[in-house]
Amino acid sequence: MPDDKLLQVRDLKKYFPVRGGLLRRVVAHLKAVDGVSFDVAAGETFGLVGESGCGKSTLGRAVLRLHEPTSGEVVLDGTDIAVLPKSELIAWRRRMQIIFQDPYASLSPRRTVRQTIREALDIHEIGDGAGRDAEVQRLLEVVGLHSHVLDRYPHEFSGGQRQRVGIARALALKPDFIVADEPVSALDVSVQSQALNLLSELQRDHGIAFLFISHDLAVVQHISDHVGVMYLGKIVETATAVDIYREPRHPYTRALMSAIPIPDPRTRRERIVLPGDVPSPISPPSGCPFHPRCPEAMPICSQELPPTVNVGTHTPHEVTCHLYADSTRV
Ligand code: SF4
Repeated sequence: MPDDKLLQVRDLKKYFPVRGGLLRRVVAHLKAVDGVSFDVAAGETFGLVGESGCGKSTLGRAVLRLHEPTSGEVVLDGTDIAVLPKSELIAWRRRMQIIFQDPYASLSPRRTVRQTIREALDIHEIGDGAGRDAEVQRLLEVVGLHSHVLDRYPHEFSGGQRQRVGIARALALKPDFIVADEPVSALDVSVQSQALNLLSELQRDHGIAFLFISHDLAVVQHISDHVGVMYLGKIVETATAVDIYREPRHPYTRALMSAIPIPDPRTRRERIVLPGDVPSPISPPSGCPFHPRCPEAMPICSQELPPTVNVGTHTPHEVTCHLYADSTRV
């Protein structure tokens, strides 16, 4: 893991109560995020992948405290923001922003581009009126839009342009960390690469760190420095993007990787098709939660939680699986 850690997440949990009966008592908990730890260095992209429903988006929101964490630490630049009182959290929110998946839904249809981007500057009372307008214009230029669109409404734009407005809004407070939650999956393939290139340019020019959430492994490979693979509320493997795509170690990661299309038609890869669906996070399987679907499951897998071990040689490569029980525990 990188040394210059901007963000350190430790044993983060987000459980949602499940209510039942006449009295609507809490009868169970949905463990959307169940003990997740990872680091993000300043200016790097940590890609988070996994099937839909695995808890990736909830994790992104819990890191920003858009969902209140159940327990765990979210340390940004030395301060655990998971336990900060709301009054102190506002100042930290300036440093942490989010880009949403759906640019259609995340922009108010009744607000112009100018109002949308300026809102954060108004709330945090940054600059005077003229200064805020000038900053809005500058941000539009940064994301490749012309200032003549300032007084237009979201419905007048294409999906790609709307996502650029969403990115400009996220940049308004000059954050050093952004959660990008499936930021290109609602866009046409033809504009996905433009949006990804824009995020890469912003990272290079402004040193922004990203938690980049996506179900698309090819997109995550393209943009990430480190990658975490999530299954049923837990991260099961983390490594550099180069290592994890070259040599995935967890059986779940291997199955995901086997589904990535190979551009060269002469090269074939055996597709690993997993049986069954992702189990319910309300009552996850015993032992390793992946064991009912794992092609390499052993008797111990249904009985004991697997340890997290480091299987990397030059850089850390952490995997949570009984197959590597002889490696160094993390
Ligand atoms: Fe498969 Fe067992 Fe490893 Fe889980 S611990 S991924 S069931 S081999």
